[in-house]
Amino acid sequence: MEKIEMNKEKIEEIKRLKEEKNAVILAHYYVKPEVQAIADYIGDSYYLSKIAVGLDNPIIVFCGVSFMGESAKLLNPDKTVLMPEPTADCPMAHMVNEITVDNARDRYDDLAVVCYINSTAEIKSWSDVCVTSANAVKIVKNLPNKNILFIPDRNLAHYVASQVPDKHFIYNEGFCPRHEFMSAKEIAELKEEHPNAKILVHPECNPDIIKIADYIGSTSGIIKYAAEHPEEDEFIIGTVYGVIYKLEIGRPDAKFYFPKTTPICVNMDKITLDHVLNVLKTGENAVELPDEAICDKAKETLTRMLELAAL
Ligand code: SF4
Repeated sequence: MEKIEMNKEKIEEIKRLKEEKNAVILAHYYVKPEVQAIADYIGDSYYLSKIAVGLDNPIIVFCGVSFMGESAKLLNPDKTVLMPEPTADCPMAHMVNEITVDNARDRYDDLAVVCYINSTAEIKSWSDVCVTSANAVKIVKNLPNKNILFIPDRNLAHYVASQVPDKHFIYNEGFCPRHEFMSAKEIAELKEEHPNAKILVHPECNPDIIKIADYIGSTSGIIKYAAEHPEEDEFIIGTVYGVIYKLEIGRPDAKFYFPKTTPICVNMDKITLDHVLNVLKTGENAVELPDEAICDKAKETLTRMLELAAL
């Protein structure tokens, strides 16, 4: 891993170019700590999508995976959104097809297609509303529809269904490889080693992990939980390792344990300071949106999310 103190020149150059071009840098919690350290805003998908709407800067450098840059561009079509590493993509963002959506719409008259923000603009355009792991329960509760097709992530869908038992859920077989293949056995072993530690996990985790968790929530929820429980000083974390940067800032006194097979998102982890510097210098890798009809519909689902989440 690149170390922050070894990159002083690079960091100075990034700051200089950012000011010269009036650019803003957004970073997801899952990117490398040294990349989070140069960001103006760090957060999960929900926070970053909200922030992107209110910014005046003409250039957004988005340190995250493709669907995040695409969402930022959908909400800010007149701005330039630069992706430091254009091959950083989220496999789950593609894990549903249109036939699944059409079949469910044929079968249920009052269906709401609820789409996790971790999806392409095209998938959003087939949907009625977007959600993030931070607001999914609230938004599904507020929908008038009884039948919910939740795409693409089945683990998040099952978690939301458990919190909204009066709705009928139809599931899709998508998953985040990083959370799906995290080992419940490794988490249980950590608990044996540290019996006083609280287990905090992301709802994208597989059901065996969800079952043994003390707290289930988004990355921002996990960070908040640790910060707001000073009486606890050990935590077992079931999400991507990048979150450690903010966890340690919030609770420098606490100990955080991750599964032995360190959960790193290979795509988020591709993004380096050199990539950020490169896009600031060259303006390369600007997000381009698909055709207008898709974008208009996808933007509606994102805007509906922001409206319903604000209720
Ligand atoms: S952690 Fe999972 S859901 Fe998040 S970007 Fe990586 S692959 Fe996608």
